[in-house]
Amino acid sequence: MSVTVANLGFPRIGPRRELKTALESYWAAKTHKAALLETAAGLRAATWARQRALGVDVIPSNDFSFYDQVLDTSVMVGAIPDIYRALGAADSLDVYFAMARGTQTGTADESCSHGHGKGGDVPALEMTKWFDTNYHYMVPEVTPGQSFQLTSTKAIDEYREAKALGYRTRPVILGPVTWLLLAKSKQNGFDPLTLLPNLLPVYAELLRRLRDAGADWVQIDEPALVLDLDDRARGAFATAYIMLAHTVPDVKLMLATYFGPLGDNLATAVGLPIAGLHIDLVRAPEQLDEVLAKAPPELLLSLGVIDGRNVWKANLTALLDRYEPIVKLRRNVQIAPSCSLLHTPIDLALETKLDVQVRDWLSFAVQKLEELSILRLGLADGRYVISDELAANADSITSRRTSSLTNDRRVRARVSAVTADWARRAVPFGERIKLQRSILNLPPLPTTTIGSFPQTAEVRKARAAHGKGALDHAAYKQFLQEETERAIRWQEEIGLDVLVHGEFERNDMVQYFGEQLAGFTFTKAAWVQSYGSRCVRPPIIYGDVSRPKPMTVDWWAYAQGLTTRPMKGMLTGPVTILQWSFVRDDQPREQTCRQIALAIRDEVVDLEAAGAKIIQIDEAALREGLPLRRADWQPYLDWAVECFRITASGVKPETQIHTHMCYSEFNDIIAAIGAMDADVISIETARSKMELLDAFATYRYPNEIGPGVYDIHAPRIPTVDEMQQLLIKAGGRLSSGQLWVNPDCGLKTRKWEEVKPALINMIDAAKGARVAL
Ligand code: GLN
Ligand code: ZN
Repeated sequence: MSVTVANLGFPRIGPRRELKTALESYWAAKTHKAALLETAAGLRAATWARQRALGVDVIPSNDFSFYDQVLDTSVMVGAIPDIYRALGAADSLDVYFAMARGTQTGTADESCSHGHGKGGDVPALEMTKWFDTNYHYMVPEVTPGQSFQLTSTKAIDEYREAKALGYRTRPVILGPVTWLLLAKSKQNGFDPLTLLPNLLPVYAELLRRLRDAGADWVQIDEPALVLDLDDRARGAFATAYIMLAHTVPDVKLMLATYFGPLGDNLATAVGLPIAGLHIDLVRAPEQLDEVLAKAPPELLLSLGVIDGRNVWKANLTALLDRYEPIVKLRRNVQIAPSCSLLHTPIDLALETKLDVQVRDWLSFAVQKLEELSILRLGLADGRYVISDELAANADSITSRRTSSLTNDRRVRARVSAVTADWARRAVPFGERIKLQRSILNLPPLPTTTIGSFPQTAEVRKARAAHGKGALDHAAYKQFLQEETERAIRWQEEIGLDVLVHGEFERNDMVQYFGEQLAGFTFTKAAWVQSYGSRCVRPPIIYGDVSRPKPMTVDWWAYAQGLTTRPMKGMLTGPVTILQWSFVRDDQPREQTCRQIALAIRDEVVDLEAAGAKIIQIDEAALREGLPLRRADWQPYLDWAVECFRITASGVKPETQIHTHMCYSEFNDIIAAIGAMDADVISIETARSKMELLDAFATYRYPNEIGPGVYDIHAPRIPTVDEMQQLLIKAGGRLSSGQLWVNPDCGLKTRKWEEVKPALINMIDAAKGARVAL
């Protein structure tokens, strides 16, 4: 019997974001390529050494990336669109970074959700979220009939590099079927999966060369196996792995699945000619019995038992109870994190300022590998060898379960007292809107913006100085008041109808609220990669959430006090706060979301009491919370929409509730959007040329809507005419009486030089459209 600890991937950004620093200085041409390569090699060596020291038996290689592992795969197989090939040798770093970021000069554009290079000379590849994580990958681009060649030897080089340092690693590669399922073609209707026969020889050659370099096992990631697949996609798995087993029989493949259960793809997965199968038993513990029943006895199972997506200490005793019998049943097993640790922060040891009680409940990548080592000992040699560790772990688990921080009786009582009425406005939209119109007295096609104005270098500098204590509270406040006043005066001057205060006091739309809510904590260095060199430090929701006191009312009141035009109250919605945080795992997400909904509802009610006539509740992340499997969508949408409605329904009918969402697909969730019943919704439509309004038109969306006419992701200033055309298009799809005029999203990432002319044009476009429509 043997139990080994395997890791599927370690964060590559470095404990102090060394890779980020090295990349950005290389991009800014401040350092040479050699320096970047040296930093990268140093990080890889340190990561291997650390994993060995932590007792990891199966250490990955090729989990490092300069930008993204999907992009690495595209380059590996030579899927490099012609516009990039023209820029240099196919395997050069410059071509790679051009695909990642485009080639425009200047620094990385920090926009709200994307912000990699757009526009410029050569645009970047499209970027999108990796399954249901906050990690973004570069979408592979393929063309009909294209051929592939092994273009990058990165996987082989890094295997050799590790070997030279004394580590026998298991290289990680992204599997051919998942890569093709993620790929897109510019040619409509072309199915990338048809390229599989062209692609497989490249994978075979890669495996052969890895074998020649000494690799006996290769981890091949096929997370697409947890998605809804049709028979063709399932057939592609069989084709691919039969071919690879046949051509390279002496390389053992550990097929890694994660982020959910195999479900109806289980038979496909266990039927493949592979040597090992990794399954996610954190997201899908229930699949274990079925996998055990169906997996051939010689298949090496890798049990993903430690959560690779979250930050909580595992309950080691519970894991031993569950897995001791399994280890006896199967001769060999591996235990591993549920997925690559890419999605967790690196080391809890850096968090010296956290509340000691909360800190004791946490586990980051390093600690998770420690947990696996302890677990291995317990499983292999018996619990008595780890009795001290088990006792300490049990103390942490008990502390978390029984702490008053995780059991705020008042919050719990309040959530259970919520009735259907709490999620319903007192009167239907048709009546509300009449009251609102008579109070607000706005022109047709009212103009507004989404909330934030440019977060200039001065704003960020002042915030940093205040954070460090170099700028005292009074001076900082005065600075922010001046910024706010300037923004308000300017909005009045250009003639916007509904104003915003500009959000200068906010660092981030979730953090700002998290810092003021009970049940949240923030870290110093718990960065996780979002895309490329960009990292985020999500809040950690550890306890019951409540709002000790108003969070935005003072700023709103200050802003409204400066103008007679309506000033929007500006809040982040409960689903978005949940989605962009590490969420406690000791109760359903829905429960945590309801607590946040009540806290934000309190703020909505207080804003109304202070005199706000319009309150915007942003739900930028509602769509990205959708589960991976279609069958799970409706239950999610039901509670997500209900949470929004709880937040929005504490006010009088005459108070106008806005929401904002920045995405480009509404077709499949339009009924849920309708069910949110916001009085006004603003969405991102400029780039899609209003096409995505079709979903609203077909649905006969009854409430008011502001389709974005200004693409804020690019520095480009849209003309009056093009925005007017967009509005006329919108008017053709919806009734002009429903329409508002606004940009796609907040303007915090833009410069005033861009924002000013763009909004002046937008107002002119609205004036023109009022006449035309
Ligand atoms: N109110 C926020 C802002 O304008 C909304 C941002 C977003 O949707 N991502 O910045
Ligand atoms: Zn937005």
